[in-house]
Amino acid sequence: MTRATMAEAEHRSSENEHLDVLVIGAGVSGIGAAHHLRERFPERSFAILEAQDARGGTWWTHQFPGARSDSDLFTYGYRHKPWIGPSIAAGGAILDYLDEVIDEDQLAANIRYHHRVTSLSWSSDEHRWTAEVTRTDTGEQLRITASFLWMCQGYYNHDEPYTPEWPGTDRFAGTIVHPQAWPADLDHAGKRVLVIGSGATAATLVPALAKSAEHVTMLQRSPSYWFPSPSVHELATTLAPLNLPADWTHEILRRQYTQQLDWLAAVAHEDPDQLHTFLMDAIAPLLPEGTDVEKHFTPRYRPWQQRIAIVPDGDLFEAMRDGRASVVTDTITEFTEKGVQVSSGEVLEADIVVTATGFNLSVFGDIPFTVDGEPVDFSQRVTWHGMMISGVPNMAYAFGYFRHSWTLRVDLVNDVVARIVEHMAERGATTVVPELRPSDADMPLREWSDPENFNPNYVLRSQDRMFKQGDREPWTHMQEYAHDRTALPEADIDDGLQYR
Ligand SMILES: Cc1cc2nc3c(=O)[nH]c(=O)nc-3n(C[C@H](O)[C@H](O)[C@H](O)COP(=O)(O)OP(=O)(O)OC[C@H]3O[C@@H](n4cnc5c(N)ncnc54)[C@H](O)[C@@H]3O)c2cc1C
Repeated sequence: MTRATMAEAEHRSSENEHLDVLVIGAGVSGIGAAHHLRERFPERSFAILEAQDARGGTWWTHQFPGARSDSDLFTYGYRHKPWIGPSIAAGGAILDYLDEVIDEDQLAANIRYHHRVTSLSWSSDEHRWTAEVTRTDTGEQLRITASFLWMCQGYYNHDEPYTPEWPGTDRFAGTIVHPQAWPADLDHAGKRVLVIGSGATAATLVPALAKSAEHVTMLQRSPSYWFPSPSVHELATTLAPLNLPADWTHEILRRQYTQQLDWLAAVAHEDPDQLHTFLMDAIAPLLPEGTDVEKHFTPRYRPWQQRIAIVPDGDLFEAMRDGRASVVTDTITEFTEKGVQVSSGEVLEADIVVTATGFNLSVFGDIPFTVDGEPVDFSQRVTWHGMMISGVPNMAYAFGYFRHSWTLRVDLVNDVVARIVEHMAERGATTVVPELRPSDADMPLREWSDPENFNPNYVLRSQDRMFKQGDREPWTHMQEYAHDRTALPEADIDDGLQYR
């Protein structure tokens, strides 16, 4: 830092800017929260602090070839803002959509890029949060206080993706790359590419890379469930000639997709074997002739215990049928100079290895929290309806769905948070805090995610750091839209919350 910027930093920190609401993160959750603030509380001051240099969160971080949603955008898009376009959208189109929201709600002046929050402390005497902030472009240190904190930092570390340690990576003569940090100048045309992983990211990358690579091999430890789905819903094609207003089409398709998801979730719980058969039947005709379906495409978990990856228009299978892509199911023993050796002894030769191995789940952005000087250990705390945390005042968090569209839940959470903030104003309260009721004193605590219900590796790896659930409302975090869409609008905002 130069002497001038240091002096400026000291000056700004001594000013201690105060805001009504501080939103952390300018991804779909933070921009959605800001829309609600603009609409419901136009008189309140707020800012969004974003560590990166642009909006979009996940869609800004993930700029690998072919990056796209694997949810339909009619449910992934916000309730208030019609999505116009194919159901499955490229990352760039989602960024454009977010830009429109920023313009329409005039949010640009409220978003501060290059602002990384490094600690958050609550003072009961002052009824406020203090955020310590580092500017990622200049190193400047800032201090901002706020009456209410809206955590929209997402669920994984954007700077450090999850990459298992394999022996021999230093010997490998080619390039190793993670989809979270895709080099803009990486040329894969004519190259042999090995993609490690078989989640949604691998399903996206493989067909995109296969367009110009010599060959793409998808190396998976075990198979996943896939669902081939048209990128344009047939109902959208039917509606198109009617020239309906965009919000009608949005609502109709949103309901259609929601109904499909409800069916999927219900069958997954009631008759998982039926869902298994349905999913296997859907891909069977798309696989190359002679495929060992049992080995490569029959998962070892129940459907819905992990997200079902959408394959738009079956593009992944088309690349496999054309011989441009193939799948290997095995475990890695080591990297060699030429590629990756697997347990069978085979070396999968490659020029580029893509580690589509997932995330490091991060709890509230791994930001250290204190309440009245006491560090908060979130693993010892309980969630209030999956949006507030016991003993942490004036703080709400946006956590969407993993198996439905993330945003469906975020919209519902935003409504409840708005009700709570209005209720505080009606009661003249400066503080709202979830506190276990006397009847909850002996409540057994459960893991945040029941592995029987939902068990992807990134959740299992970090379960011990996540906050807990109780065995009764309001101390639960449900993962099903069918439950939440009636339960959250009716959530009793006096139950388990103390207003002071
Ligand atoms: C490749 C990919 C595809 C996906 N596709 C889908 C999909 O189709 N459907 C679906 O429902 N979900 C999908 N997801 C999940 C996706 O993460 C969520 O849908 C959603 O984007 C999360 O939004 P968010 O705003 O909550 O968090 P994020 O997108 O993670 O954004 C959080 C933002 O907060 C910022 N931040 C974090 N910590 C700090 C800090 N300390 N200070 C300041 N800023 C901070 C980050 O820089 C980031 O910009 C996908 C995920 C990936 C990786």
